[in-house]
Amino acid sequence: MRNLLTFGRYLKDKFGEKIYKIPVSIPGFTCPNIDGSVAIGGCTFCENESFSPNISAKPKNRFSLNPRSEQNPLLEFQLLSMDAQIEKTKAILKKKFKAKRFIVYFQSFSNTYAPVETLKTLYTKALEKEDVIGLSVGTRSDCIEEEILIFLAKLSKTKEIWVEIGVQSIFDETLKKINRGHDFDSVEKAARLIKSYDLNLCAHLIFGLPGEDEEMMIGTFEKTLQMGADSIKFHPLYVVKNTALANDYRAGKFEPISEELYIKILTRCISALPSSVNVQRVSAGIDDDTLLSPEWCRVKHFQMKKIREALGAISINY
Ligand code: SF4
Repeated sequence: MRNLLTFGRYLKDKFGEKIYKIPVSIPGFTCPNIDGSVAIGGCTFCENESFSPNISAKPKNRFSLNPRSEQNPLLEFQLLSMDAQIEKTKAILKKKFKAKRFIVYFQSFSNTYAPVETLKTLYTKALEKEDVIGLSVGTRSDCIEEEILIFLAKLSKTKEIWVEIGVQSIFDETLKKINRGHDFDSVEKAARLIKSYDLNLCAHLIFGLPGEDEEMMIGTFEKTLQMGADSIKFHPLYVVKNTALANDYRAGKFEPISEELYIKILTRCISALPSSVNVQRVSAGIDDDTLLSPEWCRVKHFQMKKIREALGAISINY
């Protein structure tokens, strides 16, 4: 039995202790696939205000500046909010797990889609905290400017820096179906650029996208490795309310992936994973009334039990 190189194990080997991730959501940030810059409405599975009937639930401070603008009247508010989120999560993790060191994860929306000076200020402020050893920056391939990679590369000389991009699928017909707003060429170019600055690249893959079969999903995985991904997040596609995908599902035009097929493909991928590539996620659960389907995505604990058993059967310890 061999241990799978999870992100947790990778960090523990490197830093000698468990490192905890602190997710932050910067108020006012958005995504070019939501604000109409590249498409309207966002990815079909993304729950955003385009599909929300609840107007009052919309964020009040949606970022309205052009990413190339030099001014940002929200910056002070964004810094305060980020700081509060970091300190709140840190306090919980310290109390619960005696956590000592952290990576700040810029998670929501596209975290390189803002004026460069804003991004530099936010990243720098997060890293000023003594117990923050690094950053993980989640973004889209079409929001990656070389200037910000140069800045992140400088930070990576002394800090643990990761850039996360959504690959989802290498097939343009699939990317069109999910209204991704960019093609696979955009992903390949971004991955090449990120790796040219020696930055750590984490790729998100979604299994169960409309019209995809097992070999297409395996094809996406194999190509992602060829692009130089250092880490992978595997997700099953599930349907939540207030999305375009929910409309397709209700109209009988979309059938979610079965748990058996998802675990079969996941197991094939993990058994073929090079020992240098770590895994940050293998499942997704959403246990609230926004989930429409499939039911097996409701309880992450049950998913993980089955995934552990399937990996155990091929002598891999998750
Ligand atoms: S790229 Fe992310 S934030 Fe933007 S629409 Fe797609 S899923 Fe939503």
